[in-house]
Amino acid sequence: MNKKNIFQEIILGNIKSKIIYQDKDITAFNDINPKALVHIIIVPNIYIKNMNKINKKHIFILGKMLLVSSKIAKKKKISKNGYRIVINCNKYAGQEVFYLHMHLLGGNYLGNIVS
Ligand code: 5GP
Repeated sequence: MNKKNIFQEIILGNIKSKIIYQDKDITAFNDINPKALVHIIIVPNIYIKNMNKINKKHIFILGKMLLVSSKIAKKKKISKNGYRIVINCNKYAGQEVFYLHMHLLGGNYLGNIVS
């Protein structure tokens, strides 16, 4: 049997995690080590290693991940003050889990990392 990635185990319900949202395409759950008051991980239910592996077939799922993130941000009441969406890819960005995921961060001031 293949060893599954930690996020695959969470999607399948084999590892306990607070699931915030799940449908046939996407799962969202609380980060185990939150870097903001709200820190949610959004993943596709299909395995994609990282941004280096995306192609045209993934346009729908990537768009849906953003849509779900926006809906969760409103539901968690962090949208008015603002939030950040982050995708890390490989070593220099600090990717630790090699299963494509978005971080949704908010609930407190995050500073500005890009200017
Ligand atoms: P990366 O650095 O790969 O972009 O982010 C991986 C994220 O996954 C980290 O923020 C880390 O805290 C989170 N994480 C790692 N293992 C687990 C786990 O078993 N459960 C949950 N809920 N989050 C995890």
